[in-house]
Amino acid sequence: MTTPLNNPAPAKPLMPAIRKAMAGTESVQERLDDFVTAIVNSMQANVSSIYLLRKGDELELSATQGLKKSAVHKTRLKPGEGLVGHVALTAKPLNLADAPAHPLFSYRKETGEDPFKSFLAVPILRGGRTLGVLVVQSKHERSFNENEVEDLLTVAMVLAEIIIDDERAGGQAAKLKGITLAPVKPETVKGKAFAGGLVKGRAYLHVPPVAPSNLLADDIGAEQKRLEDGLSVLRASVDSIVSGETADISRASKDIYETYRMFAYDRKWGNRLREAVQSGLTAEAAVERVRNEHRARLMKAKDPYLRARLHDLEDLANRLIRALAGDALEIGNKNISDDAVIFAREIGPAELLDYDRSKLKGIVLEEGSANSHTAIICRALGIPIVGRADGVLDLIETGDFVLVDGEEGCVHIRPLDNQEASFQLRINIKGEIDKAYQSQKDLPAKTIDGRIISLQLNAGLLMDLPQLDQVGANGIGLFRTEFQFMVSEFMPRLKEQTELYRQAIIAGGTRPVTFRTLDLGSDKILPYMDRVPEENPAIGWRAIRIALDRPGLMRYQIRALLSASAGYHLRVMFPMVSTIDEMIEARALFDRELNRAKSLAKDLPHKIAVGVMLETPSLAWQVDAVCQHADFVSVGANDLLQFFFAADRDNARVSDRYDPLHPAALSILKSIVDGCNAHNTPVSVCGAIAGQPLAAICLAALGYETLSMPVTGIGPVKSALLKTDAGKLRDILTPHLTSQASTASLRNIVSDFCQENGIPA
Ligand code: PEP
Ligand code: MG
Repeated sequence: MTTPLNNPAPAKPLMPAIRKAMAGTESVQERLDDFVTAIVNSMQANVSSIYLLRKGDELELSATQGLKKSAVHKTRLKPGEGLVGHVALTAKPLNLADAPAHPLFSYRKETGEDPFKSFLAVPILRGGRTLGVLVVQSKHERSFNENEVEDLLTVAMVLAEIIIDDERAGGQAAKLKGITLAPVKPETVKGKAFAGGLVKGRAYLHVPPVAPSNLLADDIGAEQKRLEDGLSVLRASVDSIVSGETADISRASKDIYETYRMFAYDRKWGNRLREAVQSGLTAEAAVERVRNEHRARLMKAKDPYLRARLHDLEDLANRLIRALAGDALEIGNKNISDDAVIFAREIGPAELLDYDRSKLKGIVLEEGSANSHTAIICRALGIPIVGRADGVLDLIETGDFVLVDGEEGCVHIRPLDNQEASFQLRINIKGEIDKAYQSQKDLPAKTIDGRIISLQLNAGLLMDLPQLDQVGANGIGLFRTEFQFMVSEFMPRLKEQTELYRQAIIAGGTRPVTFRTLDLGSDKILPYMDRVPEENPAIGWRAIRIALDRPGLMRYQIRALLSASAGYHLRVMFPMVSTIDEMIEARALFDRELNRAKSLAKDLPHKIAVGVMLETPSLAWQVDAVCQHADFVSVGANDLLQFFFAADRDNARVSDRYDPLHPAALSILKSIVDGCNAHNTPVSVCGAIAGQPLAAICLAALGYETLSMPVTGIGPVKSALLKTDAGKLRDILTPHLTSQASTASLRNIVSDFCQENGIPA
C-alpha cells in the first residue's frame, strides 16, 4: 500500500486552522499563504493553490503550498484554460482521481506540478461572481470524499470575503500586493424611462443580500438547530401567505409565493443548507453559500424562466436569513444613505413611500410599468425611475456608485470617470433649463396667437400639493383619490378622506381642484381588499363599474368630498364611464348623497360641478349626450388611447407601438373637443400626453384649453406653448385629420414645425 504523503504527520482539523488564519493580523497575502498551508496540513494533500481572477479575466496563481513558489504571481491561465480555467468558467467543483488523464489537463512546467494525480478544485464565489479557484492536489490517485469537497467550499467562501474586502479597499489601500483583481466592471443597463430626471447616487438593494458577519460556526450542533428553526419559520410564513391568512407581504402575485413554497419545501435545497452547516458554516453563511452557488449557475442560464427562478430563490434566501436573525419576515429597510438609488425587481407604492423621501434619489427596477402607480408617484415626486432594466440585479451591490438616466431610460453602474463627467454636464444643462422654467412660472401659458391654456397638475397625495405653487400650476385637473387608498395599510376612514380632500382644496385656493372618484381595479390593487382574478383586468371590473355594483364605497367617498368642500367649489368626476346610463346612475348616487347632506342640514359647497372622464371610445361616440349629463369632460387619454388602439398601456411590448400623434388618435381627440365646444361644455385632457410638449401643442391646436399633467410637464409644456402659434399649427394638422390621406404619425411634421418656429419641444 502506498502512503498518501511523503510526510505522514497526523492531519489537523481544517476549520480551527482556517479560523486561526482568519484571526491573524497578517497581510492578505500572508493570509492566503496561511490558508494553503492549513489546507495541505489538514486535507492529506500535497498541494493547495489559490488562483485569482485578474484584470482581463486571467487567472493568476496567487498563493501555493506544494507548487514552486517562484510561479506565484507569474503563472496565468486564460479563461477556460486547463482544469482550473474550466472550474472558473463553469463555477462548479471538479473532483478527479487522475487529473492528467482529463482532456482539459494542461501542464505548466514552471509550477512543477507534473507528479500530482488527484485534483479537487472549487470556485471562489461571491454574489454570483467568480473571484478565483481554490485547488488541492495529491500525488497518489484518489477521489476526494464529499466531506472534503464541502470543507473546501467552506474555505472558498471565507476566502471570498477576504478577497472582496481587499478589493473594496481598492487601489493603493489594497493589501493583495502584486495582484490586480478583475475590477468590478462598469456596466450600462438599458431599460425604459418611467420617470424623467438625472441623478447620481449609491445603490441600495430593496431586498438586501445579507452579508454574514460571522461565517464560521462555533458550535455546529447549535447552528444545525438554528437552521432547522429558521426553515420552520420560513415555511410557516410562506404557507400562511399562500393560504391567504396574512396580508400579501410584498404584493407579489400568489403564483410567486406558490413557487416560493415549492422551493421552501425542496429537499435538495434543505439538504444543501444542512451540508453547508455541517462543514462548519453558520446558518446564515450556509444560506449565503448555497445562494451563491445557485446564482453562479443560474446567471449563466439563457432561459428567462430559469433566471426568474433565480430571483425567487434569492428572495427566499433573504427571508430565511431574516428568519434566522429573528426578524419579522417583511421586506423593506429604511436605513438608506443620503443619495440612495433603490434597486428592486418590482416595488409597490406603499413600499416606496416607506423610504425617506429626502434621501431617495432614484429607482431602478427589473420589471414594472411606466403607467404603474409607483411610476406615477415617482413622477409626482420628481424621482427618476428606470424600469425593465433586465438583469440589473445581477450586476449591482449595495453601495455601488450609479448614474440613473431617467431621460434615456438607462443606468450606468460603477461608471468610468468620463461617463460621470458627461453625465454631470447634462445635469448642469438640465439645471439651467429648470431655472428657465422657474423664471416663467408666473407667466400665463399664452400662445403667440393669444390663446391662454390652463396648465394643471395631476395629483393624488398630500406631498403633491406644494408643487402647485412651486411650478405655478393653474389648479389640479386630476386628483387621483385612489392613491390615498393604495398607500394606506388599511382602508382610509371618512375622516382621513375628508382631511386630504380639504387640504387639496385649500392648497388650490382660488384655483380649481377636480377630484376623480375611486379608480380601483386593473393595476390599482388594494392590499386589504380581496382581489378578483380576471383575464383582462384593464377592461375588467374596475372604477365606476365597481362603484355602481357596490355603491357603498363611492357613497362614502362622496360624503367625504361634500364635507371637505363645504363653503368651496366642488368639482368631481367619474372614471371609466362607457355609457351614458352609467353616467346617469353615478350622478344619481351623487345627488342622493347631496340630498342626504341637505336633509341633515350639513354645510354644503357653494358650487358643484359633476363631470365625467372620457376614456373609453364608446363615450367618444356619444359626446352630444355626454354634454347633456356632465358639467365638464376630462379626456383620460392614457386609457382612451389604450382602448382606441387596443394596446395595453402596461405592456411594454405594445404600449409604445402606437403614437398619440397618429392622425387616427388626433382625429378622435379633435372630434371630442369639437363636440364639447359645440355644447359649451368645458373639456380638458388629463392623460400623460398633456405633459409632453409636442403632443400638448397639438392639443392646443385642436382647441383644448385645459391640460392636466404630471408636475414635470408644466415647465416644458409652457415653454413650448409660449412659442406656438396654435392657429398656424391647426392649419397644418387639419388636412391630415380630415382627408385620411396620411397614414403615418404626424410627429415628424409637428417636429419640423417646432424646428422652423423655434419651439422647444
Ligand atoms: C387616463 O386614463 O388618462 C387617466 C388620466 O387616468 P389614469 O392614468 O389614472 O388611469
Ligand atoms: Mg384612466
